[in-house]
Amino acid sequence: MTPDPRYGGPVPGRYWDRAVELISSSDEIALACHISPDGDALGSMLAVGLALRAAGKQVTASFGERRFTVPRLLRFLPGQDLLVEPGDYPAAPELMVTFDVPIVDRLGMLSGNAGKARELVVVDHHRSNTGFGTVNLVDPAAAATAVLAEDLIHRLGLPVDRAVATGLYAGLVTDTGSFRHSSTTPGVHAMAARLLATGLNPEEIARELWDRSPFGYLKVLGAVLDRVKLEPEVGGGLVWTFVTRADRAAYGLPYDEVEGIIDVVRRTDEADVAVILKEDDDGAWQVSTRSKGGVDVSRVCSALGGGGHTKAAGFTSHLPVEQTMAGLRALL
Ligand code: AMP
Ligand code: MN
Ligand code: MN
Repeated sequence: MTPDPRYGGPVPGRYWDRAVELISSSDEIALACHISPDGDALGSMLAVGLALRAAGKQVTASFGERRFTVPRLLRFLPGQDLLVEPGDYPAAPELMVTFDVPIVDRLGMLSGNAGKARELVVVDHHRSNTGFGTVNLVDPAAAATAVLAEDLIHRLGLPVDRAVATGLYAGLVTDTGSFRHSSTTPGVHAMAARLLATGLNPEEIARELWDRSPFGYLKVLGAVLDRVKLEPEVGGGLVWTFVTRADRAAYGLPYDEVEGIIDVVRRTDEADVAVILKEDDDGAWQVSTRSKGGVDVSRVCSALGGGGHTKAAGFTSHLPVEQTMAGLRALL
């Protein structure tokens, strides 16, 4: 099937048909999501994985990180037993399916496996998706990859039980910011209604995703907010801060625990753009950007080697904080 690098509309029916045909006729299916998985990436992947396993398929799922650990806040997701370390992943899968991955690089260590896969089905909703699959189920209008994952499960004729629904719901609430973003269409709420009808517990899911953390988080948050800077003259206003490895180490805080700080920083009325630079365990800086709409941060981050959505995007930097910020300011 010809890859379709830029997508203007919904996924063509023949792409869905081809994906269903490939999945239905395979006994072994290898699933992958992007590195540093969020609720949409891991939730969508495990949901589809559980549905396929229940249908008798042999399913392997992973994400390509050398230090392979599931972020603490996603460990409640059902289907963790589908996960294998990237080193144990099929080297050249007959059929590989990716979730929430816009560019091959975001597969990390599994990029090579994807390159050697005989068929590669890409399930994603990033506008920046490069169409790297042999079948690309990519719809930028979808609020989450979970929306496409649910569609895929239905088209495969598989049931959505409470466990499957939990993964899909985690994806939906993560990417819509708990039904706050403009992507929250009537269709999104209709999907939420279908998922809730399976008996899942929305309170428990919200608490696991956003409303708990170790005590050290409060101390790190305090330090990170203390050094926040507001630059009203940059773009429509820029607010930014950073969190180092040392900040986290002082309280034994793993990297994924600081992922939510951007949601505090972006509150700032005086800034259109919010940025946080997070030093990971390898010393690289993972930069998260958010916009209220004045700036397309996906374009800015793409120019810096990353990507994402208009209002939420990111990139990786190996430069010191000030140099990274200088590069960002120039683009804003
Ligand atoms: P985050 O700030 O990590 O929540 O990411 C926001 C959005 O930017 C997500 O849609 C990510 O897929 C995308 N993104 C974050 N980091 C990168 C990166 N290094 N390269 C490409 N896209 C990224
Ligand atoms: Mn994601
Ligand atoms: Mn997503």
